Amino acid sequence: GHLPTAEVVQELVAEAHRRFAPVGEGQVADYIPALAAADPAHFGLCVSSCGGALFEAGEARVTFSIQSISKPFLFALICQAIGEEEAREKLGVNSTGLPFNSVLAVERSGDGLSNPMVNAGAIAATSLAPGASSEEKWAFIQDGFSRFAGRRLEIDAAVCASELATNRRNAGLATLLSDHDRIWWDPDEATELYTRQCSLSVTAADLAVMAATLANGGRQPITGEQVIEAIHCQHVLAVMVTAGLYETSGDWLYATGLPGKSGVAGGMITVAPGKGGLATYAPPLDEAGNSVRGQLTARFLSERLGLNLFASR
Ligand code: GLN
Repeated sequence: GHLPTAEVVQELVAEAHRRFAPVGEGQVADYIPALAAADPAHFGLCVSSCGGALFEAGEARVTFSIQSISKPFLFALICQAIGEEEAREKLGVNSTGLPFNSVLAVERSGDGLSNPMVNAGAIAATSLAPGASSEEKWAFIQDGFSRFAGRRLEIDAAVCASELATNRRNAGLATLLSDHDRIWWDPDEATELYTRQCSLSVTAADLAVMAATLANGGRQPITGEQVIEAIHCQHVLAVMVTAGLYETSGDWLYATGLPGKSGVAGGMITVAPGKGGLATYAPPLDEAGNSVRGQLTARFLSERLGLNLFASR
């Protein structure tokens, strides 16, 4: 299948913006102090087809930190680097049913496993980045993310400094992982690498193209680069389906029928395999840390663009 015609997609993107711009529910994240400065009125969306056509509305070119939307792309790069079976054995791929920063998630599994869409599994995944030093690992991560985006992505220094100064819970998760022998680099350095990658500055337009790369068998729609092998997209999307919105992943799947991933800066991606990617930016979040307007937009566009994976026709 394909997306509907360009005219239809552009009109529906504009309609989604009109419909959901007035929604005022949700709270901007403030546990990372720099994120509290976000403008709650900002609302941008962008759809990228697998052919690289972009359809935008609102603040689709405003930058924000990628936060947990880094997780599927990191997992993709790690699957590419070490193979999907080793990645599954080392990180786990079952949903935790718990909040993204849960310590209980690590303990309850009994073996320190979680999944790469929550903080513990993502910090463990970060520790697996190839490289003999943290600098080499960071270069691998930044280069890989930039290939997904089709442009050089840089850190938002203010967000990074703010999170590094307040990320004691993530440092605790990394220490706990090391007690379970589930981290493969110095825990503090792995936490710092994870925090840096969460601070990468992106726009909704960047994220739409990154999501479309996952929809397009790993081939970046605009640069044409094969960023990861096609087989890895299937595994990344599978984990996004069960865990991309943490403890509310079931509600998300029920509403959209698509893999998705949220971040606490207010970004969100939705992937329609073989068709394209949707990204939204709207900072106010629900209780689970997922963008309120992002979820409304994804549900609306999934229905109106006919994207639900479980629809018979
Ligand atoms: N960097 C954030 C954290 O580790 C990411 C969380 C998120 O986006 N849900 O807390």
